[in-house]
Amino acid sequence: SKEDVQAFFKKNAFVLFTVAAVVVGIILGFALRPYKMTYREVKYFSFPGELLMRMLQMLVLPLLVSSLITGMAALDSKASGKMGMRAVVYYMTTTIIAVIIGIIVVLIIHPGKGSKDEFMKQSKIEDISPADAFLDLIRNMFPPNMIQACTQQFKTKYGKRIIHVTVTVNDSVFNMTNLTEQITREEVIPIPGTVNGVNALGLVVFSMCFGLIIGNMKEQGQPLREFFDSLNEAIMRLVAIIMWYAPIGILFLISGKIVEMDDITEMGGQLAMYTITVIIGLSIHAFIILPGLYFAITRLNPFIFIMGLVEALITALGTSSSSATLPITFKCLEENNKVDKRITRFVLPVGATINMDGTALYEALAAIFIAQVNNMEMNIGQIITISITATAASIGAAGIPQAGLVTMVIVLTSVGLPTDDITLIIAVDWFLDRLRTTTNVLGDSIGAGIVEFLSRHELQAKDVEMGNAVLEE
Ligand code: ASP
Repeated sequence: SKEDVQAFFKKNAFVLFTVAAVVVGIILGFALRPYKMTYREVKYFSFPGELLMRMLQMLVLPLLVSSLITGMAALDSKASGKMGMRAVVYYMTTTIIAVIIGIIVVLIIHPGKGSKDEFMKQSKIEDISPADAFLDLIRNMFPPNMIQACTQQFKTKYGKRIIHVTVTVNDSVFNMTNLTEQITREEVIPIPGTVNGVNALGLVVFSMCFGLIIGNMKEQGQPLREFFDSLNEAIMRLVAIIMWYAPIGILFLISGKIVEMDDITEMGGQLAMYTITVIIGLSIHAFIILPGLYFAITRLNPFIFIMGLVEALITALGTSSSSATLPITFKCLEENNKVDKRITRFVLPVGATINMDGTALYEALAAIFIAQVNNMEMNIGQIITISITATAASIGAAGIPQAGLVTMVIVLTSVGLPTDDITLIIAVDWFLDRLRTTTNVLGDSIGAGIVEFLSRHELQAKDVEMGNAVLEE
């Protein structure tokens, strides 16, 4: 009936707007491509998208801190220890499965053909040794100055993580005005472990410890618990407002990128095959492994769960940042999927910072692709090294655009592959980054669902202890 239709639209308004934004964004982007906008014009055009990015990033710091502190404080140390273990086991298992899938698909499809002729980019990347990168990761966990951790990027002595990209443009593709602007473009990629100037890993470690302690402080901890609880609630209300703007931002983020991207027909056969290989690998993980795992454990329909995540997944696609998507992931899980706040507050910020299935799969796959392009066969020992370093690199990668590309230096150096060859795949990274970010967000969300299911007894026991009404199922 008419009421039903209306009710459906009302209930799913956000989802429908968000999906429409993607469709309109893609159409608009392709429609505007023939006009060959200049770099500056593209920046003006995608301004509404840039604003969305900034609004979301603005919320990351207070949201991450307040949710983790309240999440930890709401549980006693025994319960949070158990849940923490479950989350860590989930993160590790899914990341390792992702790495294995990446390796298998790239070995079977074999997209690299042992020649670099068809790639159009070259550049210099400074080496970062795996040991230094690993120490950086640990250093980041303990920021010497908390204020600085909230406002500044972590500085490192090792490696200037700036990638200079020189684009060699084929005259026939761009007109003259574009040519001058396209020739050298410097892409500065933020260093791992930082989100828009925030040292996320350090804040996660600090907030978890802090939350655990005020949770154990009895009445002395009450003011702090209430403060962070109320801060968290206020931030979530801000998120609700930003969600109305999100579809507009997503529309312009997507169309702006399509306007700006290099001509796809220019793409070499190897790069096209590589792109397809990555898409297949990520799809297996996102559509088969993760839903399968969710079903195997909870016996619930995983696709209904995933339907509740549509806005978060599309935001990940639009922003290529799992940190920026975090506020929306919270909303989707808590409001659409009714996941317990004690779980989301606790597992989502950690997941967005360290659990990156898509990135792990991607880094292993890309390293082997680069080996193939260089005509180097990887032996089993090297493949195992790649698996381990790809896992570490995905943990170390920040949830920001193209962070995975930077931490890939670690994977390549660990098996003696040329790090400069990262630039072979830069042309398609903006696109693959969006897909792996979406996989990352899906992995975090399904993890929250699974950890909630496994922790249902502790949660109920706590409800009884606190005298909360226990919902009958
Ligand atoms: N952009 C990804 C994320 O935010 C990280 C990556 O570059 O792989 O999850």
